[in-house]
Amino acid sequence: MPHAKRALVTGGAGLIGSHVTDHLIREGWTVRVLDNLEPQTHRLGKPAWVNEKAEFVQGDLTDRATIRQAMQGIDVIFHQGAYGGYMPEIAKYVYVNSFGTAQMLEVIREDNLPIKKIVVASSQAVYSEGAAICPQDGLVFPSVRPVEQLRRGDWTVHCPLCGADTVPAPTPEEAPVGGETVYGLTKVDQEKLVLLWGKQIGISTVALRYSCTYGPRQSIFNPYTGVIAIFCTRILNGLPPVLFEDGEQTRDFSFVEDIARANFLVADSDALDGLPVNVGSGRGVPVREVAEQISAALGKSIAPEVNGEFRPGEMRHLTSGTARVRDGVGYVPQTDLATGIGRYLDWIRSQGDVKDYFSAAADILRNKGIVHKAAKP
Ligand SMILES: [Zn+2]
Repeated sequence: MPHAKRALVTGGAGLIGSHVTDHLIREGWTVRVLDNLEPQTHRLGKPAWVNEKAEFVQGDLTDRATIRQAMQGIDVIFHQGAYGGYMPEIAKYVYVNSFGTAQMLEVIREDNLPIKKIVVASSQAVYSEGAAICPQDGLVFPSVRPVEQLRRGDWTVHCPLCGADTVPAPTPEEAPVGGETVYGLTKVDQEKLVLLWGKQIGISTVALRYSCTYGPRQSIFNPYTGVIAIFCTRILNGLPPVLFEDGEQTRDFSFVEDIARANFLVADSDALDGLPVNVGSGRGVPVREVAEQISAALGKSIAPEVNGEFRPGEMRHLTSGTARVRDGVGYVPQTDLATGIGRYLDWIRSQGDVKDYFSAAADILRNKGIVHKAAKP
């Protein structure tokens, strides 16, 4: 697609959308941003980081007239706008994510819009649990750990075939999807809707399954935003980071500028068209180690708090298998975790006073039954 230069970025004021916008503008593209400035993320209104070279449209992607207008004269859509978090607003997830995407596709077909490509933001939340190696059975795809097991304080991922303890392995795109959260389910909806509808109406598509994304502009107001943002605000306030389970669960982290570059690479090539594609570092990091790295970067020795709480449905381990994106478009992450954390902390410090929104949120989550406590941590 050498001549596609006009992009619509939905959710373009947000963490990933705004970095995608910046990257495209650096590449010479013309960009229109559509964002509703959801107050949970954008507490202070339109952020100053929205690229002033982009056309900014404030509006809701679930509004048919708004999305119809926003897609006029566009070659490529980067569909980053979504609603998410741990709060049980399940109707809103489905409405914004699933319905919003379906309606967007319907309008493209209805108006015969000359859209050439859609890159849709999916998530590793489409997986139930990371792939694992069983000593007997080799590579297996375990499902979510039963709540009864977690109540006993047994955090291990057992082999689905023989029950043995497993060790984590990179999860390839071929792993079963379904998700164990409503958010994950809506991400499955989004990617399947885009990939299959694209085939039906002849538009190129790619669904990017992001790993845990962090970096400058990640909301420090939204307590459901991600483990790195939460740990940073806790430690900056002199409070210990709270680790669920035993803190040894692993996650794959991506610096937001790398994720933005992956969006550009798959849009600029047809190598991965029609496919779901993991974008991650390919490395699983225990969340305890993340907490320690942030403490060290801040020069504070605050021991994490491990209280045996857990969130039913949460994965134990998830490392992205990254062969497809590497072999397809040559994507290799450029910012390692230590460098990325440093850059995020620099940005947080530039934002002035940082309050701890996590503590209040944690109480709400307990009261709503999202967080449980093990009998024997
Ligand atoms: Zn086994």
